[in-house]
Amino acid sequence: MVKYVYDFSEGNKDQKDLLGGKGANLAEMTRLGLPVPPGFTITTEACRTYMEQGDLPPELRVEVTMALRRLEDTLGRSLGDFYDPLLVSVRSGAKFSMPGMMETVLNIGLNDASVQGLTKFSGDERFAWDSYRRLIQMFGKTVLDIDGDKFAHALDTMKHARGVTADTDLTAADLQELVEHFKGIVRDESGREFPQHPREQLDLAITAVFNSWNTDRARLYRRRERIPNDLGTAVNVVTMVFGNLGTDSGTGVCFTRDPSTGKSGDYGDYLPNAQGEDVVAGIRNTLTLADFEQLDPASHGELRQAMRRLETHYRDLCDIEFTVERGKLWMLQTRVGKRTAGAAFRIATQLVDEHLITMDEALERVTGAQLSKLMFPQFDSASEGRVLLGTGMAASPGAAVGAAVFDSVTAQAWAAEGKDVILVRRETNPDDLGGMIAAVGVLTSRGGKTSHAAVVARGMGTTCVVGAEKLDVDVVKREIRVGKKVVKEGEVIAIDGSSGEVFLGSVPVVPSPVVRYLEEGLDAALALLPADDEETAELVRAVDRILTHADAVRRLRVHANADTAEDAHRARIWGAQGIGLCRTEHMFLGDRRVLIERLILAQEDAERHAALDALLPLQRADFIDILREMDGLPTTIRLIDPPLHEFLPDLTALSVKVALATERLANGADVDPAELERDKVLLAAVERMHEANPMLGLRGVRLGIVVPGLFALQIRAVAEAAAQRIKDGGRPHAEIMIPLAASVMELHLIRDEAEKILAEVAAAEGVELHIPIGAMIELPRAALTADRMAGVAEFFSFGTNDLTQTTWGFSRDDVEGAFFSEYTERGVISVSPFETIDRSGVGRLVRIAVEEGRSARPDLTLGVCGEHGGDPESVHFFHEVGLDYVSCSPFRVPVARLEAGRASVVTGGGDTR
Ligand code: ADP
Ligand code: MG
Ligand code: MG
Repeated sequence: MVKYVYDFSEGNKDQKDLLGGKGANLAEMTRLGLPVPPGFTITTEACRTYMEQGDLPPELRVEVTMALRRLEDTLGRSLGDFYDPLLVSVRSGAKFSMPGMMETVLNIGLNDASVQGLTKFSGDERFAWDSYRRLIQMFGKTVLDIDGDKFAHALDTMKHARGVTADTDLTAADLQELVEHFKGIVRDESGREFPQHPREQLDLAITAVFNSWNTDRARLYRRRERIPNDLGTAVNVVTMVFGNLGTDSGTGVCFTRDPSTGKSGDYGDYLPNAQGEDVVAGIRNTLTLADFEQLDPASHGELRQAMRRLETHYRDLCDIEFTVERGKLWMLQTRVGKRTAGAAFRIATQLVDEHLITMDEALERVTGAQLSKLMFPQFDSASEGRVLLGTGMAASPGAAVGAAVFDSVTAQAWAAEGKDVILVRRETNPDDLGGMIAAVGVLTSRGGKTSHAAVVARGMGTTCVVGAEKLDVDVVKREIRVGKKVVKEGEVIAIDGSSGEVFLGSVPVVPSPVVRYLEEGLDAALALLPADDEETAELVRAVDRILTHADAVRRLRVHANADTAEDAHRARIWGAQGIGLCRTEHMFLGDRRVLIERLILAQEDAERHAALDALLPLQRADFIDILREMDGLPTTIRLIDPPLHEFLPDLTALSVKVALATERLANGADVDPAELERDKVLLAAVERMHEANPMLGLRGVRLGIVVPGLFALQIRAVAEAAAQRIKDGGRPHAEIMIPLAASVMELHLIRDEAEKILAEVAAAEGVELHIPIGAMIELPRAALTADRMAGVAEFFSFGTNDLTQTTWGFSRDDVEGAFFSEYTERGVISVSPFETIDRSGVGRLVRIAVEEGRSARPDLTLGVCGEHGGDPESVHFFHEVGLDYVSCSPFRVPVARLEAGRASVVTGGGDTR
């Protein structure tokens, strides 16, 4: 028989899948001998079965009965009793904590009879009726789906009638009357009596917790946090203990370390004479743990001991819920506590220094996402007088300050005048793009992390906060209303894309000390800090130690995508061990555009040669600069990739220009006929080269085969640059990468041509040239014929952007903004495949190409140069499949270094051949 119910004495902390986080940790505390009120956990499996069958499994009813009886026997009390009744709470608890998403019902077991028992046991009639009142209220709302305002309103009416303001001023008689009133609400709203039978209360509450797994808000939360929908929640049935039995009772929450700085010590809040939910509700000011010590030294001492035991046991920061009932401490919950990015690094190294964890474990305890948070400029948290308007979702990190504007056109106009603006919309759509580009930040009151605003802002690296629902954005009146506050267009606001906070007025920004460290080294970064800023100094040291350790243990090398010598320089500073992708197309822009235009328009060989000859020295100089910067490190240069018409004027603009000039000429106006003639030739070329779908058209290796001399020019420039560097005493490691090949024949053709040129240059310059030639693997056919491709290519670099486009048939620029949010809502994708590699589809192609490529050529070098190279989750995948390196934009290099180290620690050495 399946086992659906576990007593707290049976489980342990490693059973989160089955018992949920709360249940597993309650069991663990019980095992440790800490004072946990007895109880049991109903498994997530029971929830999954319930969701499938639509009814509680019959075995579950039996097991609950047995667990209840054991509980009653242990305590010598029973549910619904006249004298000293057993009461329980029914608490949700999934594998991953989902704060505020699901429900808990307290005081189950109270009814018209046991409320008398509770009075006798507690000697406090008021307390007993207040507990009953709370039960009907919570039960009515969460189990019977009655509008909670109905109860709240009745409570207010009663207080008003009695002329009191606090709940605590109502008498036992008042509360008894309120209970009758509440029962009436239940009868009217649900068409049934409030259930008097404790077991019925319990079963209904269990079902309600199961159902709360599937509420809209819970589903939405899981989508955002990437928590699978099919996990289900566990249910914990816990003996009630009461913090509201007088001044010798109370309830609190605490942390074993400061969750924002990591400092060891005890931090927490305590509220005397209160039940758990009162602390969070903030109805009274809480006391510190030091005050608690004064009040009740014995319970405080016991709590401190429990905290120490938990931290030693979990070897991490723990957060804890506890209650004191008449001088007796009870532990109600613990978990490894959430923390800020900075605290994560500090706590990890502190624990190493306290000899509680190893450096490998320290590395596991931080993430690349946390590191990148630490790299963005930050609001100065020390600045006084910040006015918080509201909090939304942190969609794209950074700290932005600017004038609020409410439409794209104004944003662009003001930005053109040199103003910093923040574009504020209810939600954005593709029409807002211009304004989003012009703005320093984007703020919306609607939408989630994959809304248009979020996706586009992240793509552009613009700070963005979305879904700040408390803000009433009125684009017609051009104002934001928050309560009574009104923020008009032009007023300055500040948004924090790492925390989701929105402030009125400007907040000072400080550059990230972590970036200073990455750029200038540890000593320089520390020297720049104010002498008393020990906290930041500790953070910078912690990042240094963990990153250094990551570098020592990682197997993956980290390269950068860099197109210019300056980018290459920056990449090296950030720790790049090579260039994985040097795009060459920008080398044809600016002044050089006319040369490529001449090449495209050339009718005869002589004209073409002249254009190519003019380009050669320019291109060679570019390569010399980059190879000098990357001396001694691999530098992968990709031959020209985009369709050539990208270098020509826009079709519509040129058509209009020609049409106008033709007309003016006909009207006898002053027109330069030579220019018109040139434009006509150009227009013909543009028309000839126009493509319905350029992404899949004449580009990449296809250009090299169709346009005579183009690749040859680039290959010669690379070879001559390398030769020059050798003669200058350098150690150039240039590699030539062929883009968009689908067939091995394409590689053969280019390779033959390249080898001839390399030999020619080597002979002419009198140097030996070793320039590997490889293929960018970015089409499914290339991956599927990897064994043959590897016969010709000395290395593969996965171009996962195009590989994702061609595998899914998505044109990224067209689909991301257009319907990805809908696709995410509807569960087709859980995260954009352009952000994190799609393991099962695109990843499978990568796997095939790795295996077949290596079997054909064992020393094949394998890397990735798509955006995914800097995405934490994807880095782990590339480690697992056994690539040699990942390449990403310079800014993401530190994140990739960290995650590559974590991948080595978490999954072992990976597939190292
Ligand atoms: P959440 O997951 O939202 O924190 P909990 O299940 O922890 O919900 O319960 C809500 C509140 O009720 C918490 O403050 C908790 O400490 C308190 N609580 C839960 N069970 C009991 C109990 N058996 N006795 C006393 N207080 C309880
Ligand atoms: Mg809790
Ligand atoms: Mg590509």
